[in-house]
Amino acid sequence: MILVTGGAGYIGSHTVLELLRSGYEVVVVDDLSAGHRELVLTDNFVQADIRDRAALSAAFQQYPIEAVLHFAALTSVPESVADPGRYYDVNLGGTLVLLEVMRAFGVTRLVFSSSAAIYGDPQRLPIPEDHPIRPKSPYGRSKAVCEEILADYARAYGFSYVSLRYFNAAGSDPEGKIGEWHEPECHLIPIVLEAASGKRPYVEIFGTDYETPDGTGVRDYIHVVDLAQAHVLALEHLAAGGESGAYNLGIGRGYSVREVIEVCRKVTGRKIPVREGPRRPGDPAILVADARRAQRELHWQPRYTNLESMVETAWAWMRRRES
Ligand code: NAD
Repeated sequence: MILVTGGAGYIGSHTVLELLRSGYEVVVVDDLSAGHRELVLTDNFVQADIRDRAALSAAFQQYPIEAVLHFAALTSVPESVADPGRYYDVNLGGTLVLLEVMRAFGVTRLVFSSSAAIYGDPQRLPIPEDHPIRPKSPYGRSKAVCEEILADYARAYGFSYVSLRYFNAAGSDPEGKIGEWHEPECHLIPIVLEAASGKRPYVEIFGTDYETPDGTGVRDYIHVVDLAQAHVLALEHLAAGGESGAYNLGIGRGYSVREVIEVCRKVTGRKIPVREGPRRPGDPAILVADARRAQRELHWQPRYTNLESMVETAWAWMRRRES
């Protein structure tokens, strides 16, 4: 059985669905601080904070857990700049508690949700895994330190792990069972789609003076189903005795904020009002992945390779939720 922490969240819930479709048994631990019970498509659900050692131990006692997918974390870059203590407490402290409980129960395989935020401002593009790690925010730093802790646990305690460094997750389950649902919404595509559907008056662009072709930030968007599949492949890699390591996950193409808004206009056929604002602290200008390592070593192949197809699934989910 696979333990999924943060399995009631956006990427975690899609990965649970992918695991179930691949025939795995799954148990989810989530405190529902940002997740939704409705997104968890299994009855094996434990509502608990990963920092609660007793509750986590009880879950390991109750279920025959063989490996862990660790999504649970606080996820906003600007929030982490404003309140770093909270971010380190959950993202670092929570991960340490989880690792210690795993160790106590002899569970040593882990797939970790890392992030492109660990790289900071890119010195090379697209960004390979051996790029310098210079996070610009406490959020990015929390992920970078967790990766180092995992390497220590692998050396000292025989853990094996895969860190998946996601670029920007986008889209929703194409069958419409689940989708992206953050409250308040803090990700660009759903924000733009909320503006398209009239739920918010306009989209604010944070920074129009970046050194990018149109002055707005550029990101590499990857469909959440492709991310979910990478987790299943990472689990298989570890189960087969594969080496520990870190892998970028992105499609290797960047879209600016203005391009994202344009694609959303095209997909929805709606007007999307825009306001231009200042940059936010902690945001690099461009993040684009070199994800060839995951393709080579995990045999991962993204199916959604253009933004239109991602936005279409996100828009379908939003309309379904509204109806
Ligand atoms: P999300 O907020 O939808 O999911 C996180 C889940 O963790 C939520 O269900 C939340 O309730 C749960 N959680 C938070 N703190 C917890 C705690 N102390 N104990 C138990 N559960 C807790 O976020 P997401 O977008 O699905 O991100 C999942 C993971 O992927 C995170 O680790 C995030 O840092 C990472 N990541 C996300 C992106 C992205 O584009 N969304 C990019 C890079 C990395």
